[in-house]
Amino acid sequence: MRLIEYEGLRLFTEAGIPTPRYSVVDDPNQAVRAAEQISPPVVLKAQVLVGGRGKAGGVRVVEALQDVGKVAGEILGMEIRGERVKRLVVAEAVRHSEELYLSIIVDRTSNRHLILASRMGGVDVEELSKSHPEALVRAPIDPLIGLHDWQIRMLLAHLKLSSETAKQFQDIVKKLYSVYRQYYCDLAEINPLALTDDGRLVALDAKIILDDNAARLHGFKFAGEAGVESEAVRLGLNYVELDGDIGIICNGAGLTMATMDLVYTLGGRPGCFLDLGGGASAERVYTALKFLFNRPHVKLVFLNVLGGITRCDEVADGIVRAYDEFGGSKKIVVRLVGTREEEGRRILASRNIGYFTRMMEAAEAAVKQTS
Ligand code: GDP
Ligand code: MN
Repeated sequence: MRLIEYEGLRLFTEAGIPTPRYSVVDDPNQAVRAAEQISPPVVLKAQVLVGGRGKAGGVRVVEALQDVGKVAGEILGMEIRGERVKRLVVAEAVRHSEELYLSIIVDRTSNRHLILASRMGGVDVEELSKSHPEALVRAPIDPLIGLHDWQIRMLLAHLKLSSETAKQFQDIVKKLYSVYRQYYCDLAEINPLALTDDGRLVALDAKIILDDNAARLHGFKFAGEAGVESEAVRLGLNYVELDGDIGIICNGAGLTMATMDLVYTLGGRPGCFLDLGGGASAERVYTALKFLFNRPHVKLVFLNVLGGITRCDEVADGIVRAYDEFGGSKKIVVRLVGTREEEGRRILASRNIGYFTRMMEAAEAAVKQTS
């Protein structure tokens, strides 16, 4: 999950990384008040998740207080690559003579964290790595050994900063690394890291991408986590959203993937999948079904369970509970085999809920009802 800039700036501030003074606003009047507090010149920045706001006109320096309202209104009316601007950051405009680049990413090829730095910041790093690959220095960090001063010195040997600025750089790298580790980031990027005329380094932008699986560990404290997949994590469900219309529930990753493949092969379009895991209780099955029934794009739920430690009667109890609540308003196709299969089927039959034993037949029925 990508954080909005102001959330990233907040993490930086908390960690002691120098940032401009700023506030977050959602209308022009608030922007004017914020600008008064900070005292112009200020920078108004669109809070959208798409990159390249600068180029799209979503980042503007305003010199005079009387222009703040108008410019704020203009940015708030914009759409940047399809995303409406609903919020602005009003930040102190930090005068600077140079823009550096600094980031830490997960490098899956080397199984390391990778620190990337450059004197040529401000532009896209992808662009930079193509146009001036030599201007980008890298320091791989073994996660078990951690970050050491000599690695930062290696970066500094390339960057050739003055000794006072180098000291600040070292401090910022350490703090950025601690943010990166503490929040389980896939990426923590400062671009630009501004070098002011008086030799100070200030983070003017914050781009942070969190590992979605770590949401529980940092307590769901970010705006993007109002999303549906995070809601599923909160309920303890393994859920993945897709763009079709068949909601797939299975037990075990293998069966889930096989079911997905089968549905695709038969011409159906999965709208999501949910893996119940092993030994699901009636309660868990109910929670999972309810979650899928409430997804507006899911037209039909295809539940495919092969009971081992999972008991079919438990699953059937969960289905009946969800069925009672949602009645016939949602379509469901059930395939249920394995441990306590007879008991499970009896429960379903007693409520006139149909079921299949063969996976192929069930999948065909699911696809037929949605095409
Ligand atoms: P991005 O385009 O979405 O990456 O947005 P940035 O926050 O990186 O801003 C784009 C550019 O605006 C930066 O490269 C800077 O040149 C400029 N900028 C951003 N913040 C400030 C600031 O506080 N002061 C000044 N003078 N320029 C800024
Ligand atoms: Mn940037």
